[in-house]
Amino acid sequence: MSSAVLAYLDHNATSPLRPVAFDAMAEALKAGGNPSSVHRAGRAARGRIDQARRQVAALVGAMPSEVIFTSGGTEANNLAITGTGCQRVLASSVEHDSVLKAAPDVERIPVDSTGVIVLGELERMLAASPVPTLVSVMFANNETGVLQPIAEVVRLARKTGALVHCDAVQGAGKAEVELHGLGVDYLSVSAHKFGGPTGIGALVVRGNAPFVTDRRGGGQEANRRAGTENVAGIAGFGAAASAARNGLDVLALRERLETALLKTAPQAQVFGADAKRLANTVCISMPGVRAETQVMALDLAGVCVSAGAACSSGKVTRSAVLTAMGVDSAVADTAVRISFGWNTEAEDIERLIAAWQDLYIRVQNSDIVRDRAA
Ligand code: PLP
Repeated sequence: MSSAVLAYLDHNATSPLRPVAFDAMAEALKAGGNPSSVHRAGRAARGRIDQARRQVAALVGAMPSEVIFTSGGTEANNLAITGTGCQRVLASSVEHDSVLKAAPDVERIPVDSTGVIVLGELERMLAASPVPTLVSVMFANNETGVLQPIAEVVRLARKTGALVHCDAVQGAGKAEVELHGLGVDYLSVSAHKFGGPTGIGALVVRGNAPFVTDRRGGGQEANRRAGTENVAGIAGFGAAASAARNGLDVLALRERLETALLKTAPQAQVFGADAKRLANTVCISMPGVRAETQVMALDLAGVCVSAGAACSSGKVTRSAVLTAMGVDSAVADTAVRISFGWNTEAEDIERLIAAWQDLYIRVQNSDIVRDRAA
């Protein structure tokens, strides 16, 4: 964002709305109409949904008929975990809570110190029980950007007949994410992570994969998600999906940022640095400075980043992701997440670097500001 007022570097929380998405939404809102109505206003609304379905399908390498619109990534994950009919769910220990809390007894697949799942453990867990099993592994982690070896997960799952769900909420629009290319059965996406509106997403279900919905009501979304569709949200989702098809070209920005911060504070740690990661995400510690302190100081300097996993209450809790990676709790408490998006520019990065360096140097020189994480 090339505004002198704000360097917004929290795209993994939510990305600003793309102008094309705004326009598509405004048009849909002005036009109105219930897509289930047979008159022309209804048919026009249906047309917007059909177009958006094609746009979203194109973004995630799926057929339009495989896209089920939902209220976002959370609902898509919930529906996937509960809708397959599997008795057993294995999920990586760094999944989003909308996966981990979606079933009572989700068994956690451990990750190594880089944040990548331990495939040998998955293999052992799959072999441990013959009951129908769903494996849920995310495409990219929301805090570290670490990518998971989905092709390997699918290969191991297929050996035992298990189904595979992939939460691609942080991957779609940033890297190439394809339902059929990845070979998974279910894929979750959310519009607001790549410039669409909040409150809209999709569960993409491979053609003949089992899926039983828990929504009761009308026959919308081919009987898979009852309720009058959010036409404006869907239209904005589709427009953003089209605009996001080229992914993000931000690797040089990430390299510039990491090099500058590590030069300033050589003891700083970039979490997941040794794994394949999204180019838009940097999770980094500032030695001895708690994440909340950093977030507030950076905010005062006009830079928006986030501390660990900011939950819906706005409270900062210790990152479960870093904990699962075996990061020492005192170090985990000093980690902030910086994430770029479609409108990030070099000057945003320079502004962050200057503010981060300024804070770090002030802390080094002052016992008063010093705020050692216990
Ligand atoms: N999955 C991941 C990996 C996420 O990062 C998020 C949101 O932060 C979600 C799911 C939930 O998506 P939504 O905010 O659309 O409900």
